[in-house]
Amino acid sequence: KKQLASRVNTLSPSTTLAITAKAKEMKAAGIDVIGLGAGEPDYNTPKNILEAAYQSMQDGKTKYTPAGGLPQLKDAIIDKLKRDQGLTYTRKEVLVGIGAKHVLYTLFQVLLNKGNEVIIPSPFWVSYPEQVKLAEGTPVFVEGTAAERFKVSAKQIRDAITDQTKAIIINSPGNPTGMIYSKEELTAIAEVCREKDVWIISDEIYEKLVYDGKEHVSIAQLSDDAKDRTFIINGVSKSHSMTGWRIGYIAGDEEVVGAMTNLASHSTSNPTTTSQYAAIEAYNGSQDTVEVMRKDFESRLNQAYPKLSAVPGFDVLKPQGAFYLLPDVQEAVKKTGYANVDDFAQALLTEAKVAVIPGTGFGSDTTIRLSYATSIDQLEEGIARIDQFVRDHW
Ligand code: PLP
Repeated sequence: KKQLASRVNTLSPSTTLAITAKAKEMKAAGIDVIGLGAGEPDYNTPKNILEAAYQSMQDGKTKYTPAGGLPQLKDAIIDKLKRDQGLTYTRKEVLVGIGAKHVLYTLFQVLLNKGNEVIIPSPFWVSYPEQVKLAEGTPVFVEGTAAERFKVSAKQIRDAITDQTKAIIINSPGNPTGMIYSKEELTAIAEVCREKDVWIISDEIYEKLVYDGKEHVSIAQLSDDAKDRTFIINGVSKSHSMTGWRIGYIAGDEEVVGAMTNLASHSTSNPTTTSQYAAIEAYNGSQDTVEVMRKDFESRLNQAYPKLSAVPGFDVLKPQGAFYLLPDVQEAVKKTGYANVDDFAQALLTEAKVAVIPGTGFGSDTTIRLSYATSIDQLEEGIARIDQFVRDHW
């Protein structure tokens, strides 16, 4: 009777959240820890958004909304997709959920039957495989090597497709890689998906965080066919520094989104009403702060990147988007005498007092992930501590 359901047997807690929690615990105990683990912007939510949320509460907008989200918020999202991607969607093709994470969870629940395969390029965001497995699907990993800038090719995807393949995931800009797929790369991938008739799940949560004049392209923009088979996943968490508000959305096939809305009506009901009003302002209000934050991230990256590259035994590709650095630390791990990146990251936390995430949870056992969503002082101090730690143990 006391046994847990088998579906959670292999479920492990998100490594990102686990290390971040441990670092917070150490901080609370008075230990001076530099947190480079976090997956969220360090700015407060912009003021106009806070005010819109407060106003909605004052106006008594504190009740249930339709399960799939307020029509006004869907319209704001539809306008955003038109403005930024030039894509047209109807309200029935949009669902607002409890963050992009839960929207993805619901999508896998309605899309997958037992044994259906989902192709996941690695390194990947930790939750994709777990969510696929929770829907009784099978994650199929395709490796994006450092030599290929952590990206996978259309050919690799073609080779991985079987008659059980239901969907592929594209996450660009990517977590943890920070890489961006070009229009040409996406065009080739979309063509394979058309040929083999598989869905495309395009996680664009880092859309607004692109650097060096790079451009975010959604695979859905590339052709009518690509649009029809793509689910765009996005939200306000990273673009508007609203991780705690828990608002994300999907735009795509009406039948699938309809099934998701049904499922939401029996599982979550609507995402928090106040958060939805905040998100309306995020999308309809001034976008100036989005650009201010983007520029700030870019300047942190430009300051941190050369310093991290100078750490002995660290091999770092310069990211093009998101807010992570993913150095290959194989040599440093070996020269400092640790068995693997997990032990190395653990030692960085307990000895050097810097929280970073080992790549293992992202399907990469030679890297660690550092987030630069923190002040430049903290970032520089964190990298200096890592540098010192590696030199001391070399
Ligand atoms: N997708 C990726 C690639 C992410 O990194 C994250 C957050 O870390 C999410 C989705 C989830 O975002 P949300 O806060 O909207 O659930």
